[in-house]
Amino acid sequence: AGKEWVHLPEGIRNTLMLFDHKLKNKHITVRTELPDDLPAVCGWAGELNQVWTNLIDNAIDALPDGGQLDITSQLDRNFVLTKVIDNGFGIPDDVQDKIFEPFFTTKEIGKGTGLGLDIVQGIIKHHNGSIKVNSKPGRTEFSICLPIQ
Ligand code: ADP
Ligand code: MG
Repeated sequence: AGKEWVHLPEGIRNTLMLFDHKLKNKHITVRTELPDDLPAVCGWAGELNQVWTNLIDNAIDALPDGGQLDITSQLDRNFVLTKVIDNGFGIPDDVQDKIFEPFFTTKEIGKGTGLGLDIVQGIIKHHNGSIKVNSKPGRTEFSICLPIQ
């Protein structure tokens, strides 16, 4: 399928709705800053929804009952910068180097495939963007930069 104009706030909000039940079960507070006037990016909406899905899924796994999830998008020069931040247990330094590798998981057998972030990275590359992680105990931030036309 060809590229289309993708409005990120819409995709992120729709993805959050799919997680509504899981988020409520774990009493997770969600805060979003998703300006409606954010410029659209040119890309594949389904792929980008997969990015938000995989990042939110990981955040929920890392969060304790009553945790907090923040998702923000903002214009940053020629990019839309999106941050997915959780106040969960964090990613140890020695693990941080490996999280984007296919099949790397710290989850129990049957709970994780280790493919989520590998897929995320592939999709971000496909959009000529970049992804970074910054984590310490109690705070994990994934930053995704996607170019605008
Ligand atoms: P999976 O979720 O199947 O384990 P992923 O590729 O999605 O595979 O993630 C790989 C690993 O990265 C996870 O097993 C976990 O150790 C770590 N990770 C990813 N996101 C987070 C997060 N928000 N907080 C803590 N650890 C995380
Ligand atoms: Mg995952």
